[in-house]
Amino acid sequence: MKPLSELASAYDVIVIGAGLGGMTAANRLARFGRKVLLLEQHFMLGGLAAYFKRGEHIFDVSLHGFPFGMVKTCRKYWSADIADRIVQLKNIVFDNPQFALTTTFDTADFTDKLVNYFHVAPATVEKFFTALRAMNFYDDQTQTTREMFQQFFPDRSEVWRFLMEPIAYANGSTLDEPAITYGIVFANFMNKGVYTFRGGTDLFIAMLTAELEKNGVDIAVRAPVKKITLTDGRAAGVVVDASGGERTIAARAVLSNASLPRTVMEMLGKENIPTELADLTLATRISQSSVQVYIGIKKGEVLPDIGDLLFTSTYPEFNSAALAALPPTSRTYSVYYPSTRPGHDRYAVVASMNAKFGDWANLNDDEYYELKAAYTADAVKHLQKYVPNIEHLIDHLEVATPRTFRRYTGHLGGASFGTKFEGLKVSEGLPKFIPGMYHTGSCAIIMSGWLGAANYGVIVANQIENYLA
Ligand SMILES: Cc1cc2nc3c(=O)[nH]c(=O)nc-3n(C[C@H](O)[C@H](O)[C@H](O)COP(=O)(O)OP(=O)(O)OC[C@H]3O[C@@H](n4cnc5c(N)ncnc54)[C@H](O)[C@@H]3O)c2cc1C
Repeated sequence: MKPLSELASAYDVIVIGAGLGGMTAANRLARFGRKVLLLEQHFMLGGLAAYFKRGEHIFDVSLHGFPFGMVKTCRKYWSADIADRIVQLKNIVFDNPQFALTTTFDTADFTDKLVNYFHVAPATVEKFFTALRAMNFYDDQTQTTREMFQQFFPDRSEVWRFLMEPIAYANGSTLDEPAITYGIVFANFMNKGVYTFRGGTDLFIAMLTAELEKNGVDIAVRAPVKKITLTDGRAAGVVVDASGGERTIAARAVLSNASLPRTVMEMLGKENIPTELADLTLATRISQSSVQVYIGIKKGEVLPDIGDLLFTSTYPEFNSAALAALPPTSRTYSVYYPSTRPGHDRYAVVASMNAKFGDWANLNDDEYYELKAAYTADAVKHLQKYVPNIEHLIDHLEVATPRTFRRYTGHLGGASFGTKFEGLKVSEGLPKFIPGMYHTGSCAIIMSGWLGAANYGVIVANQIENYLA
């Protein structure tokens, strides 16, 4: 890491934001031999791939599970050491009024469950998976997930729940969004199951940071970019608003990993961009947010094996609106056993609930703390079903809300997966409107999550390399 005063006055590329998209793009561009500056407003790198320490506890914010594809991405664009630490989570549990089962969350086991538990005809299951595998980004985007489910599993709400609830829990997607946004994400998981990083987010980010530094990327934290400068309509650099004052740094290309609408409307500024770009940005919906309850288990206490990820709900059937409504009726528990972080003997559980920023935005302090306390009590109470004496095992409880996510990452509305599908047009379109200006990370669901953000970083780094060359 470098203090602002030690940064050069010009770079080939400046990357704004050190989320997984920004970090991966910075690493790739540095490997191409480019002089790269990575600026992060927070004091830590990782963005939403965050962790925090409380006493001896280490809590992971977004390390609940990602698809196997992350192994290939890490091996190719980071290092073999990083890729080799990725391991499968084998016990994925569903428990709701319609069914209770455990799965390895891959095609073979899902096929078995669909055929033998839900009694769907094998030929239908086969056709469904074939259709998913054939989906690609350039497909027809008019069919919704609801229409696709109705085509294959007419009126089977329990089957829809089995297929949809984990994806909706993770990224807030609904039945009324383009089927490809569901299909591509779900098919990625179905490839080989759900994976995690052995060693935790802290080790993962430390290893990425070491790679970036090894490859010569200049990194500055506590370095919020206030403005992106343009010369003759092209991206020309940034203005950093640091505690010691502002600093302008030049670049041949600028890549923003920050919130897409804020990049366009605040950093570029409505007055400096074509009206069409402003209109597209203003019409872009952001994804919903999340509430998390972090549950730390006392030293020496042991949790039974209750699964790695528990998708639990008391709601009668799958309903996207209900998933994010108050009070919560659905909770996903991620259980962190000591094997998650070898050498660290503490257990932790993180309860995740989908949430709407609007429900939290305007609460006064008393209301805010009251609602946080209600979520905490709810998460602990419902965990009792799986660990009956849980309240005696806990020595730390803490809550993150949509306001927390907004505060630490600057994402509008505390969006946990960037923008809805239409954001991709803005993100991809930026360099057409403003040569040298790029965006990566968290948009349109398929470019989100650990894998999507990292892969999008690679795609955009390749485009920037072409532009510079
Ligand atoms: C609660 C929660 C749980 C999740 N669980 C999972 C999961 O289990 N599996 C999964 O795959 N994904 C999960 N995700 C999503 C995943 O974490 C994100 O999609 C991914 O990490 C986003 O990466 P990104 O590249 O878009 O960057 P982000 O993580 O959004 O990072 C953007 C960075 O830009 C910085 N920045 C913003 N503005 C500025 C500025 N002006 N100047 C400088 N820096 C700036 C921010 O501080 C931040 O570091 C979860 C997300 C949340 C919130």
